[in-house]
Amino acid sequence: MGIDEIFRIIEDEKIRFVRLQFSDINGALKNVEIPSADLKRAFEKGIMFDGSSIEGFVRINESDMYLKPDPDTFAILPWTLEGQRSARIICDVYKQDGTPFEGDPRFRLRKVMQEAKDMGFVPHAGPEVEFFLLPRKNNKPSFEFLDEGGYFDLLPVDIAEHLRSEVAVMLEEMGIDVEATHHEVAPSQHEVDFRYSNALSAADAVQTVKLVIKTLAIKNNLYATFMPKPFFGVNGSGMHVHVSLLSTDLQKNMFFDEKSGDISEYMRYFIGGILKYSKSITAVTNPTINSYKRLVPGYEAPVNIAWSLANRSALVRVPAARGMGTRIEYRSPDPSCNPYLALAVIIKAGLQGIKDKIEPPLPVEKDIYHMKEEEKDNFGIDHLPSNLKEALDEMEKCELIKEALGEHIFNKFLEMKRLEWKDFSIAVTEWERQRYEII
Ligand code: GLN
Ligand code: MG
Ligand code: MG
Ligand code: MG
Repeated sequence: MGIDEIFRIIEDEKIRFVRLQFSDINGALKNVEIPSADLKRAFEKGIMFDGSSIEGFVRINESDMYLKPDPDTFAILPWTLEGQRSARIICDVYKQDGTPFEGDPRFRLRKVMQEAKDMGFVPHAGPEVEFFLLPRKNNKPSFEFLDEGGYFDLLPVDIAEHLRSEVAVMLEEMGIDVEATHHEVAPSQHEVDFRYSNALSAADAVQTVKLVIKTLAIKNNLYATFMPKPFFGVNGSGMHVHVSLLSTDLQKNMFFDEKSGDISEYMRYFIGGILKYSKSITAVTNPTINSYKRLVPGYEAPVNIAWSLANRSALVRVPAARGMGTRIEYRSPDPSCNPYLALAVIIKAGLQGIKDKIEPPLPVEKDIYHMKEEEKDNFGIDHLPSNLKEALDEMEKCELIKEALGEHIFNKFLEMKRLEWKDFSIAVTEWERQRYEII
């Protein structure tokens, strides 16, 4: 969107405030609201903020940073009241010297996008966001089901149906093309899917989707959680990511080979790269202690490092669509990840596969959950890290991830997450009390 058009909308819609948004290293959305009159200055010079107060950014002695709005991301916030509407713009973070801040997650994804572009590709992505809607009691989520609905169920079991359509309407108003919303497999679990777009706007869209869902949940006296596994024994919430590489003129899907009518060599190597680096990217795509309680057999979440054409127990699935719709579905990420960093490492791994011509193993069409260990060994099937510590150890060894995240985020991320693991290791849980009370 052009800057002139933004100012025209601001005037027509009487928008008094604009929220400048950006994300910290954990993917938490931050914002500062400025009067619309100051937006011009923001476009020209940026708006200063204190980077030392943002998780994973900078130390106090180098804390002046600047937000520069990306005009493509301007959107009115539909839930703000008429007559006092606010808008938002997503920003890039700059340092005092006017260069991009290397610890800005959005900048990391921009860099990988540039690398792809230099190779003749524009990465596109379509994340599927799953979440639970929970009752709200004393201003906190209450971990009990709101409904007993299941996959694709509708009223009367799905009392959140109304909220889901409200989410879809607001997202459309904010320029996000919603493809589907539905009740997911678990009780109280839902999914929002939007049309795939270039990976940067897909990551922006994930942030917007989460914000809209959380806002509407609160307005309805409910609580939305994107925690990967809120309940033992039922499916967790994933964030499958569909990825394809388009040609730079966006006319061709480079994952499709017109001659054979099937998947291209690029796509095979991309899969090869993803599988090769899947252990090291897991800390980024599944960054919480709780993430690993989801990645267990039997709940439609992947455990084993394999790819397949249809099999939902594999880590990488190739949906049946061909032509422009040819893509991979990477099934391990969960919605607790930072979408910018997750897409950056996934795409980086795939591009490396193309550069190094990494041939993936044969696709596995059998249900891997029910394979014996010996059979998995025969297929050469390894497994994803089984907890955050294992994932961090894998990540720390990986130069490719360091390059994708940049040293700043790489080091900060490891430091923060090691601390999280340490905290968890000394916590005494309800499970232990129940298990050991009679000793
Ligand atoms: N909730 C499942 C997961 O954890 C996915 C279920 C589905 O989309 N079929 O990944
Ligand atoms: Mg889905
Ligand atoms: Mg789903
Ligand atoms: Mg899916």
